[in-house]
Amino acid sequence: MISFKDAYQKVLDLRQDFGNEQVPLEQAMGKVLAENVMADRNFPPFNRATKDGIAINYDAIEKGQTSFKIEGVLAAGMPSQLLTNTANCTEIMTGAVVPENADTVVMYEHLVIEDGWASLIKNPKQGQDIHLNGSDQKKGDPILAKHSIISAAEIGVLAAVGKASVLVRTLPKVAIVSTGNELVEVQETPLPHQIRKSNIHTLFAALSEEGIVPDKLHLPDEKASIKKALSSTLKTYNAILLSGGVSKGKFDFIPQVMEELGVEKIFHGVFQRPGKPFWFGIQNETNTVVFSFPGNPVSTFANYNVYFKDWLKLSLGLPLPKIDVILKETVEAKGDLTLLLRVKLEFNRGHLLASLVKENGSGDLCSLVNTDGFIVLEPKNELYEVGELVPFVATRDL
Ligand code: AMP
Ligand code: MG
Repeated sequence: MISFKDAYQKVLDLRQDFGNEQVPLEQAMGKVLAENVMADRNFPPFNRATKDGIAINYDAIEKGQTSFKIEGVLAAGMPSQLLTNTANCTEIMTGAVVPENADTVVMYEHLVIEDGWASLIKNPKQGQDIHLNGSDQKKGDPILAKHSIISAAEIGVLAAVGKASVLVRTLPKVAIVSTGNELVEVQETPLPHQIRKSNIHTLFAALSEEGIVPDKLHLPDEKASIKKALSSTLKTYNAILLSGGVSKGKFDFIPQVMEELGVEKIFHGVFQRPGKPFWFGIQNETNTVVFSFPGNPVSTFANYNVYFKDWLKLSLGLPLPKIDVILKETVEAKGDLTLLLRVKLEFNRGHLLASLVKENGSGDLCSLVNTDGFIVLEPKNELYEVGELVPFVATRDL
């Protein structure tokens, strides 16, 4: 048994590097960028009209001119054109190239157009309504940094600079394994002594939020079958997430099988609740990391969120989130266990306030639907007070 702090650090110490890969832009959403991206040309790449109206040369206004003969019409997508006479104007649409010898755009709302002439009803400011060439970014400017998470905003920028394929961090290949003779499939009607599998579905869903599509496996509480299945699984995956079979029970074979398969045990048992019997190790030949969570649904869920997600983030080169929340009630955390307590959050004037969720222990799966995340309380003799800041691990988007 080790402390929560040590266990957490040991998990992070075994972060891995799964390398990089090129993916089509359409598949880059949610991935971690593995290259710095520069502007491939100026942003915008030409003087761009930002209103529908006319383009003029301001010199004419300074000379007192208020009406302009219309030479033609410039639409977005037409190549650059000059005014043949700078006393004239051209009609111009948003997104069109402003003629090089024009410097001001006047929108239709400030004009009267009649018989081929445009007359001002409001005096323009020189240079108005033009998005100047290179005013956002210059060619070669850095616009996206390595290790950015690609969201819809980044996708737009990547598209704008012509990145039809993007270098991203490769995600790990993950297997999720449930164990237990009592477990039946979702579509089955359990006998009175059986329950439906839920952990495998929780883990599958949680991993899919990270863009990982894991392979699923179920094993009976039978040593030989577990050993056979895990020996091949260990060769194929970067990480294996197991649930169940890791405690002190007569049919909890995982720790023993791992040892027999040569997986190095980093720790077994953490001074924490829930999730105390957590077993963690690595197969050194393949660098396969094994997270073996106790099977109680809240234990699996808490340990996945607290340990695996941060291990994944570090492995992908991302910073670890650090969120503190404010306690809305006093909490006792006496004893020698670090408590991972289910909380519901409330936003109040820019603050995040946490209240404990009513729950019935680590088997109480249904309590998780009222839970926004876990607060992590180190044991101490005094109460945690109302208003105290405590670390928080989110289990859903806030
Ligand atoms: P174990 O860690 O195998 O001793 O399991 C602890 C408790 O969690 C037992 O009551 C199991 O029935 C339950 N459990 C184990 N695995 C799962 C699972 N995949 N889905 C739902 N409950 C599970
Ligand atoms: Mg079991």
